[in-house]
Formats: sequence, structure tokens, C-alpha cells
Amino acid sequence: MRRQLKQLMAFLHRRKDDDSMSKIVLPLLPLRDIIVFPHMVAPLFVGRAKSVSALTEAMSREKSVFLSAQKTAELDSPGPGDIHEIGTIGNVLQMLHLPDGTVKALVEGKARAKISRWLATDSFFQVEAVPLVDQVGMDGAEIHALRRAVLDAFGRYAKINRNISKELFTSIRGISDPSRFSDTIASHFAFEIGRKQELLESLVVPRRLSTLLKLIRMEIEVFQVDQRIKGRVKEQMERTQKNYYLSEKMRAIKKEMGAEDDATEELDDLERKIRRRRMPREARKKVWQEFKKLRMMTPMSAEATVVRNYIDWIISLPWFDRTRVNTDIDEAERILDSEHYGLEKPKERILEYLAVQTLMEKIKGPILCLVGPPGVGKTSVARSVANATGRKFVRLSLGGVRDEAEIRGHRRTYIGAMPGKIIQSLKKVGARNPVFCLDEVDKMSTDFRGDPSSALLEVLDPEQNYGFNDHYLDLDFDLTDILFITTANTLHGIPLPLQDRMEIIRLPGYTEIEKRRIARDYLIPKQTGANGLSGVDISFTPNAEMEIIRHHTREAGVRNLERQVAAICRKIARDIVRDKNGGKAAAGSREAKGRYRITEKSVGKYLGPPKFRHGSVEKKDQVGMVTGLAWTQVGGELLSVETLIMPGKGRLTVTGKLGDVMKESCQAAVSYTRSRSKTLKLDPEFYGKYDIHIHVPEGAIPKDGPSAGIAISTSLSSALTRRAVHRDIAMTGEITLRGRVLPIGGLKEKVLAAHRGGITRVLIPKENEKDLKDIPASVSRQVEIIPVEHMDEVLFHALLTEPDGDEPDLSLKADELPADDLPSGVSIDLVPKKEREEKQPAIN
Ligand code: ADP
Repeated sequence: MRRQLKQLMAFLHRRKDDDSMSKIVLPLLPLRDIIVFPHMVAPLFVGRAKSVSALTEAMSREKSVFLSAQKTAELDSPGPGDIHEIGTIGNVLQMLHLPDGTVKALVEGKARAKISRWLATDSFFQVEAVPLVDQVGMDGAEIHALRRAVLDAFGRYAKINRNISKELFTSIRGISDPSRFSDTIASHFAFEIGRKQELLESLVVPRRLSTLLKLIRMEIEVFQVDQRIKGRVKEQMERTQKNYYLSEKMRAIKKEMGAEDDATEELDDLERKIRRRRMPREARKKVWQEFKKLRMMTPMSAEATVVRNYIDWIISLPWFDRTRVNTDIDEAERILDSEHYGLEKPKERILEYLAVQTLMEKIKGPILCLVGPPGVGKTSVARSVANATGRKFVRLSLGGVRDEAEIRGHRRTYIGAMPGKIIQSLKKVGARNPVFCLDEVDKMSTDFRGDPSSALLEVLDPEQNYGFNDHYLDLDFDLTDILFITTANTLHGIPLPLQDRMEIIRLPGYTEIEKRRIARDYLIPKQTGANGLSGVDISFTPNAEMEIIRHHTREAGVRNLERQVAAICRKIARDIVRDKNGGKAAAGSREAKGRYRITEKSVGKYLGPPKFRHGSVEKKDQVGMVTGLAWTQVGGELLSVETLIMPGKGRLTVTGKLGDVMKESCQAAVSYTRSRSKTLKLDPEFYGKYDIHIHVPEGAIPKDGPSAGIAISTSLSSALTRRAVHRDIAMTGEITLRGRVLPIGGLKEKVLAAHRGGITRVLIPKENEKDLKDIPASVSRQVEIIPVEHMDEVLFHALLTEPDGDEPDLSLKADELPADDLPSGVSIDLVPKKEREEKQPAIN
């Protein structure tokens, strides 16, 4: 053994060209994760049996061992191919057997060597190794420069890495042999094992130095990046710790104040609710943001309440909740029919709308707008649509809404801010696809607080309402699933852009016959049920129904009718209760015990004397007395026109609260009659000799419109010709100066009024013939309709052929008729001469 060491020593000191290079046989210690460089002392922990044997062998042989790294550290029993060929010949300085059977050894690297042959591999590895020689190269200056650069880099590294002591740096600086210098530095770096092996295998010293320089620089960079990251992580950790500390402290303070437990429980509860609720991503983000804020707040503070309210609003909205929609059109039709009598056109249109919507899935068509007088069933039809389609129903009255914020909500910056009515209603109904009835769109008004109709436009416009932005929520809510139905009394009040989005469906009102059907089939059963009379035998005679309709209500719809029926039901209920208690029955119409029959007479007992009176046919044919027909919001009416001729100076007086148009009609009638004086066999100068007074009774009701034209003219002609007017004739039509009869509106209502009043012949403008189809057959059977084109035809039909009685009574002198005695009204001079100085009565 000694010989071997001698050989080694000799080898270390030999010159490069020395021939005496010899091979040395040594036990091999495979290293897992360390490279032992020459001149390096390293502790090794050895556990594997083979390695322990190798070490023991080495101890018995001059303590020399071949140290070489495994190519893969994880390999437990490597074979020769798994071990690097180049390693270090080392000296075992110390060997210590530990109690657990492992060995701790201290080894010192001596020289690089290469395995030339594997001798034994059984109990331990035994190799034949050839020591390797450094190649210094010729250029001393290059090596010097490299050495300085490496030292410089190492110095910088030592500065930032506290693991390298000043002493170590000083001692390394003192190493002059470049090979040893580089090996010593390499051994102090935690390079990757592969890199270290590379350095070990690198025999050309300048190349080894430059590799080392590169590695050190890389290491410095890595270290610096590492430091930066560490700094950031630390900062973050400090911040988190700080927040944690603060919130814990806050919690402690709150606990001290006694509010902790309840508030936390409530917050946890809220958190659970938020988690469970389905909502769009944007809403979820917002709600968590607010929740985070809320957690930091004092629970009882005003701000906390505001934030809490906001969160409550968001989580209670039906973002995704919807009811199942019935797409069965037949079923929908059945429901609509069962809840409303008549209304064929509106129902048909609604069913078409539902059908289209079923095919389209999304409602993109226009919004339905039901227009008609009060009580015709607009709202209740909308409710029926909800029933028919399986949607929920929500109603919002826009009457008197003048503030845009009522629709769109107030911004959250306002104290007590709330979402607008649209969002409020959606929360209430709890589904995103209800039938949404916007009542009275024509009653909205605009003022300095903005224009609610423009906000409504956004709500109703299918191009915009997929993202309706309420000011309070500040989140988009999709309204496209809602079926909007609007209602209005008239179209005048609806802004044009809004009308543009809507499909108008008119509900014009009911005839008496229709009202009777509605009362019998819908209102009476409904009200008897609602007043607890379901089990009681109650019947209304047709005359009783008609009596209520004619004399206790005056309306186009049936709301008051329903009210009157309800009033009767209540009175019966009272009778029944009183009866049960043994008291005497009141006004009632009880026939037998438990049976009530309401007749025309008993209606009076229940509801009092008739409240309304309708015009009816005159008792006899009279001169100057004509029945006209008027249209009002609540249906048609008979309208009497009376004319009186008196001796005078050609003054026309018009009374009866007539509007401008009607006054003009009176003048036109006079002009026309003058122009026809010859045909009518009148004194052509009549207008200068007589005063004419036209009166339309029921002076308290303002009347206007051109459709009384032919009635006024007929009345005048009758008065002048002294030919009486057929009492069973009524007429309607506008007249031109040349006597042409022009068409009018509301024909159906007018004919119905005539029928009700007992009229048997009605003169109508020829051009209105097209409207006759709307008149129920039951009416047209009893009333003869005579279309006329010219005033001459009107007179032909209306006037009796023979003058009635004497010539006009001219015995009165004009001067004897004081102007002040005339009823107030308009006096028009037909002869505008000296009479002009006469005082003109004021226009009412
Ligand atoms: P509107 O909204 O047009 O003012 P409503 O919808 O409130 O009127 O209707 C008033 C009442 O009349 C409701 O009770 C309604 O059920 C009833 N009604 C109206 N039209 C009909 C009809 N065609 N058939 C049955 N009931 C009707």
C-alpha cells in the first residue's frame, strides 16, 4: 500500500511528459449528490453496504479511495455504467461508525483521475484509475486575467451571500495556483451537480476558469432575483399579517362593545345566502365587493345599513328564476274565453302574439297596448294573459308618475335611495318572465325631474332592454323575458316614440246587450261568490239587469255595473244575517226562504231611485223638434234639437252650452235653409223678419261636434215650414253649406242609443254604411237604417208632408221682445245693419 501512495505522490510531482504514469488500484465510493474536488475536505454520510465496505477497504489500504459521482443520484445500487468515469482520488481522514450502522467519513480530495478498468463489483467496487493532469496552457496573462475576473465575481457573490465569510475570501485570494484556485472556489458553490462534474472534468485550466466565471455570474443573478422575490413575498406576508392583526383587533373591540356575536352570525348568514344565490358574474362580483366592505364596517353604522340593503336587493332579484310558460294556444284561448266575454278582436290578437312568441322564444315584437275607456277590462285582460300563459302577473300604475327616477331608481349616493318601480316589481313577483302590466301610460307627465317616458322607452324597447340599467343597482338586468302589456284611456297622452313601439288594440266599450251578458255570466257569479252568497239561490231577471245598466250606471265599461251588483249582493248578505238572528228582513226581494229574485222593481229598493235618465222617443210629432244622436265617452246618447221662430229682426240665438263647432253648424244651417227657401216654399226674406232660437236641452252638459249638423238643419226647416218632424226618426250627420251629408264617428254607439230610446228609423250618412257591420243583428232587426247623401233626402224622410197648423205667429213685434229675456247664449245677427248697436249677449 505504501508503495501505491508513493506512486501517487510521484505522479503528482512528475512532469507532463513523464513516462512513469501509472495506474492505481483503488476501492470506489459512489457519491450521490456531491463532487469532491481536489484540495477539498468534505464530510460524507455513507449508508449503503457496498460503500461502507469500500471505505473499510480504503482504511486498510493507505486510506486512499476513488470518489466518483453517480450519474443519477436516486439509484441505490448503481452499476459501473451508472458512475462517472472521472472522479477524484481522495484520502479518508476520519471514519466514524454511527450506532445506526451508517458511517460518517471525512475525506479530502487529492487529484483528478479517470477509471480505466473495473476490477471488482461484488462486495464493493474496485477500480484501476489513471490520474489526470491539468493543462495550464501557454498564455499566463490570460489565466491571470481570468483568475482576477473570477475572484472579482466571487467577491461580489461573497458580498451578497452571507454564507461566505471574509476569511474564506481572503484565503482563496491567497491561492496562486490557478487550478487549485478554481477548484477551491467551485467547492464552495452550490452549483448543480452536473455543472460541478463539468468543472471536474475540465482539465484545461483557462477553460475551467471561464466556465466557473460564467457559473458564478449566473449564480449572482439567480441570487439577486431570488432576493427580490423573497423581498416581495415578505412584504406581502407582512401586509397580510397586518390586515389580519387589524381585523382581529377590530373584532376584539367589537366584542368588547357586545355587538360581535349577532353581527358575525348575521354576516355568516348573508355570506351563505350570497353563495347559494344564482346570479350573473357581474352581479356576483359586485356583491362580493360590497360584502367585503360590509365585513370591515361597524354593524350598526349608517353606511353598513346602506351596503347591507344593497346586497339584499341584489340577492333577492330573480336573475334566473322563471315560471314555466304554457305554450298551448288552445288552452290559452280557453282561459281567455272563460274569463272575459266578447272582446273577439283583442283576444284574437293576443293569441297570435302568444303564438309568435312561442315560435320565437324571445319576445321581440311590439308591445301590446290596450286602449279604451275605464272599466272595459284592460287590466283584467292582461291578468288573463298571465293566467293563460302560466306567467306571474305584476301591475304597475304609471298614472301621475312624473319623475324619471321612479322608473329607473335613484343613484346610491342619495340617502334612502331605492331601485325604480320596474326592479321593485320584479323583486315582488320573484320571476324574470312575468306579464308586466304598465297601467295608464297616457297619464305619465314630464317635468323638471326628467322624462319618465324616455326611461320607459328603454324598458319597452326590445333592442335595449336586454340590459336595463337601474341607477340604484348599477347592474344590467335583462328584461327580454317579460311580456309587457300597457293600457291607456286615450292615445293622446302617449308620447309618439312610445306609441311607435306599441301595437294598439282598442277595447271600445260594451253595448247594453253585451253588458247584460257580462253581468249575467261573469259579474253576478263573481260578486255573489265574493260576498259569501255562493250557496244562496239568487237570480236577476233580464229587466232587472237592464234597469241597473240603464238607470244606475252610465259608462262604457262595466266597472260601476259590477259595483252596483256588489251593492245588491251586500244588501242580500245583510238580510240573510239579520234573518238568521231573527230580525226582520229589510227591503229584500226574498221569494221563499233562501231564494232571492231581483226584479226591475226590487233594483229600485236596493239601489234607490234611478240615477241616470236616457233620452227617449218623443210622445208626438212636433214642429222644430228633432232627435239627434251624440257620441260620448260612455256611449251614445239621444240629443234633442229645438228651434223656435219668432217675429223679429233676423237674430239667431243659440243656447244649450254648445261648442264652437256646433254654433257654426247652426249658422251653416241657416245659410243652407236660406239658399233652399224656394224649394221649401219659404218667404225668401224670412231671415230679416224673424228671430230664430236654436236650443239643445240638457244645458249643463257641454256639447260639441259637427255630427248634429243635419239635425239642426232639419229642426230649422221644420220650424220655418211649420211641418212637424216624425217623432220615431233620429239622425246624425255633418252638413256642408250646399247640403251634402258628411260621415261621422261612433255610429255603433249612436244606433244603440237610438234603439234604447225606442227610435225605429235612423238617418245616417251614406258613407257610414261600412260601419253597419258592427251593429248587433238584434238591433238592426228593430231599427231601420236609412243612409242619406243630401239634406233634401233628410227632409224628405224626416218632415211630415203637410204644414202643421197656421203660418208662423207674427203678431208679436220685434220691439216687444226684450233682448234680456232671451236665455243666455249666442245671438247672431242675420241682418247686420242698424241692429248692430244692440247689445250682444256674452258667449258662454
Ligand atoms: P280597466 O283596466 O279597463 O279600467 P278592469 O280591467 O279593471 O278595467 O275591469 C273592470 C272589471 O270589469 C273587472 O272586474 C273585469 O273582470 C270586468 N270586465 C271587464 N270586461 C269584461 C268582460 N269582457 N268579461 C268579463 N268581465 C269583464
